[in-house]
Amino acid sequence: MAAHPRRRNRVPSVVVTLAFLGAIGWVVYEMAPQWRRYWALMSAPAPTHLPMPVQGVAPRAVANTWGAARDAGARTHQGVDIFARRGTPILSPVEGIVIGVGQDRLGGNVVRVLGPGRQVHYFAHLDAFGGVKPHDWVSPGAILGYVGTTGNARGTPPHLHYGIYTASGAINPYPLLAAEASPRTRGRAPESARAPGTRSRPATT
Ligand SMILES: [Zn+2]
Repeated sequence: MAAHPRRRNRVPSVVVTLAFLGAIGWVVYEMAPQWRRYWALMSAPAPTHLPMPVQGVAPRAVANTWGAARDAGARTHQGVDIFARRGTPILSPVEGIVIGVGQDRLGGNVVRVLGPGRQVHYFAHLDAFGGVKPHDWVSPGAILGYVGTTGNARGTPPHLHYGIYTASGAINPYPLLAAEASPRTRGRAPESARAPGTRSRPATT
């Protein structure tokens, strides 16, 4: 008599186990495309050239101010400044995942996008944000925000401060933007890709 309740309980426990395994299988099946997409992005090689992240700006209009002194030499410029009229759209240069939309002290309104090769693309001094929020996937050309003067760019001509951060630190975006200017120069040494007639702009953030 005592064995009967145990035997009766086995059927529900098998059902529960199967339902549990089924649920896990369903989640894996549903999530697999997103995991594959994420894995492909993370394992993709870092880009060797990038489109201009500000609408309508030609690469030759951007100065290579990487490494220039800032705050009386207390720090160096870890990016490039791309000048444009206030409100000009800022476009994602890569496919990626938005990992930050907010404020920081120097950058003002900033957006961060995790892109191919685990590089973080940093967009600062935005006048306003685009329609993006953290965890959004963005394609190249997606509007991240609009050029402005927030953060320590207050009082300077409106510009986008664009930075690229790798696991081993910031890298100079300039050669990547210059390489996009001409297909002939793609893949060459960074300095050789520098467009002639590059204008120097006021040193800012
Ligand atoms: Zn800057």
